[in-house]
Parts: sequence; structure tokens; C-alpha cells
Amino acid sequence: MREIVPACPKCKSNKYVVRIRTAEKVGTVAGGAVGAGSAYAGFTSGAKAGAVLGSIIPGLGTVAGAGIGAIGGTIMGFLSGCAVGNAVGERIDANIRIKYRCTNCSSKIQG
Ligand SMILES: [Zn+2]
Repeated sequence: MREIVPACPKCKSNKYVVRIRTAEKVGTVAGGAVGAGSAYAGFTSGAKAGAVLGSIIPGLGTVAGAGIGAIGGTIMGFLSGCAVGNAVGERIDANIRIKYRCTNCSSKIQG
């Protein structure tokens, strides 16, 4: 589906008009921050769970268990954080008013 682009008032054409995706950048940054936070939360909770697991299972050891748990927790946290970040970015993208710019005369057009 091709999106409808408004025409440039100066050039009288939409041939050079491109969409400025400001919201997408905001969403990506927000998503990255959320992902990093979740990864850290996953790291700490994973390490704790791993340490408990390591002390229960004979031969595994608390330190080894904590390491395994931390890695697993970080990956899980990162993945869930990315998913949340993407959803947040998409929501911002849908709500923010889209702006356009003419690449021929570089004038900004409100969508
Ligand atoms: Zn123009």
C-alpha cells in the first residue's frame, strides 16, 4: 500500500516529498532504554535464581549456577525489553503527527 504524500506548496508536486520519521527514532531510543533496563533486571534476578539452583543441584556450585542464571536472565530481559520497546515506538509513531519534507526545495510540510 502506497501512502498518500502531500504535495509541496512551492514545487506543486509530491514527487520530492519524503516522510520525516521522527517518532520512529524516539521509539527506537525508548525501546533501547527499556531493553537495557529489562536486561539488567533479568541479570540480577537470573543470577539470584541461578545461585539458588546451583546450591540445590550437587556438583553445579553456587557460583556456576549464578553465572548460568545471569546469562539466561540477561538474554530473557533483553528480548522482552526489545519487544516492549518496539511496541512503545510503534505507539508513539502512530500518535505523533507525521511531518514531510521536500527534497527539492527543502521546505517542511505538515502532514
Ligand atoms: Zn518543494
